[in-house]
Amino acid sequence: MGKRKEISNWGRYPRIEKKESLFDNIPVLDGFLSDADTLIARGMGRCYGDSSLGENIINTASFNRFLAFDDKEGVIECESGVTLDEILQVVVPKGWFIPVTPGTKFVTVGGAIASDIHGKNHHIDGSFSRHVLSLQIKCSDGTTYHCTPTDHADLFSATCGGMGLTGIILSAKIRLKKIATAYIRQKQLKAPSLDKLLELFNIYQDYTYSVAWVDCLSKGKSFGRGILMLGEHAEEQEVKPGVDTLKVHKTPKFNIPFNFPSLVLNKLTIRLFNTLYYLKNLREEQDSVVHYDGFFYPLDNINNWNRMYGKRGFFQYQFVLPLDKLDLLKEVMLLIAKNNKASFLSVLKVFGEQDGVLSFPMKGYTLALDIPYDPHLDQFLDQLDLMISEGGGRFYLAKDARMKKETFWQTYQQADKFLEIVNKYNPGSSFSSLQSQRLGITS
Ligand SMILES: Cc1cc2nc3c(=O)[nH]c(=O)nc-3n(C[C@H](O)[C@H](O)[C@H](O)COP(=O)(O)OP(=O)(O)OC[C@H]3O[C@@H](n4cnc5c(N)ncnc54)[C@H](O)[C@@H]3O)c2cc1C
Repeated sequence: MGKRKEISNWGRYPRIEKKESLFDNIPVLDGFLSDADTLIARGMGRCYGDSSLGENIINTASFNRFLAFDDKEGVIECESGVTLDEILQVVVPKGWFIPVTPGTKFVTVGGAIASDIHGKNHHIDGSFSRHVLSLQIKCSDGTTYHCTPTDHADLFSATCGGMGLTGIILSAKIRLKKIATAYIRQKQLKAPSLDKLLELFNIYQDYTYSVAWVDCLSKGKSFGRGILMLGEHAEEQEVKPGVDTLKVHKTPKFNIPFNFPSLVLNKLTIRLFNTLYYLKNLREEQDSVVHYDGFFYPLDNINNWNRMYGKRGFFQYQFVLPLDKLDLLKEVMLLIAKNNKASFLSVLKVFGEQDGVLSFPMKGYTLALDIPYDPHLDQFLDQLDLMISEGGGRFYLAKDARMKKETFWQTYQQADKFLEIVNKYNPGSSFSSLQSQRLGITS
């Protein structure tokens, strides 16, 4: 096992002193499994809270070989520590793309499956797991299972979204999406109010990619104003002549080298940012052709941007509410605006149907807010938790660092079924994180 060190994930809360061990072959992993009472896998640590923190952390960064790539059929197989960044570098020049991608490419395949990540196309293409043809997973007694949606289907479904609690994902075979170019035909629409924004989501629901930035601090008539961003993969003739149509992204240019003082991000600076961001789009409607990197990963260009929130870190609060609960969504957003719970990154998306047993997405609207950590925040968020859970909504485990046990069991309706599957394949349950202990999923 490795040495103890300070470890935290993207929200930088909580921070713990623990061991983190690497492996690049199965016998070493088997050794970790037999030596430790409990383990949890960790990829790039891009979840925000404590899902990949635990007593013994097994980092998959060195278990990262490509196993096969069929560039005719668009199927790739790799070990779980390979990142989406690395996959894009291999597949884009051959005219393929990742079928579902989050807002950062710096996540591993193991992390993408375990959180069953969603992208801007969830309403059309579902979660990441819908495109996983098969996966290999090592359970607590050392057995490796080959799972598909029909072979050990229960383990497959529980692993996709199972937050590392069903075992260590070793590798996966993923079906890619065919693209003609590395560019996106983008349409941006300005909405002066939340009602207008929701109306635009409806009108443009057939677009493959859709997401809205929302000014969560605006009040009065402009409450919930925002910009809806839509996209489709561009055809060759839509890209400027002379441009490399299958160009891969570059490595990040900027870095935030130290923690910002907490004074930098406050109510006023965040309000100013929101106003300027809304005004920067001068026209009501804007069409352009942009590279996939700018469309999907605007923040990846700045390394360590999470340091902007200072040493204390921040929470990302992401919930989903059923489609028929729009009044409640507005009520929650009004409360956020009224209490000046500042967020300069507030993102609204529409979800389609749920995939895995514990997958977060379900048909509805999801809102994600970044909120700087402050010791009084919990009380406010507890109030929101109650409203959202009573309204039939739930919270994304990959973003969570503070949810109460009761809230989890009330909102994840298939949690009992999940636990049955975990116990069937891992009697005595070796896989456990700080989050699973807090939520009472493991002891
Ligand atoms: C800027 C930013 C934008 C994001 N945007 C989105 C978004 O749009 N949509 C979305 O869905 N998510 C989004 N996320 C969250 C991110 O996609 C997930 O948290 C993802 O799981 C992180 O992958 P990771 O490799 O960093 O895994 P980690 O954060 O290290 O771990 C996440 C979970 O996966 C488990 N895990 C990791 N590897 C394995 C393995 N090999 N076997 C078993 N379990 C494993 C861990 O135990 C843990 O439960 C975003 C995160 C950031 C920082």
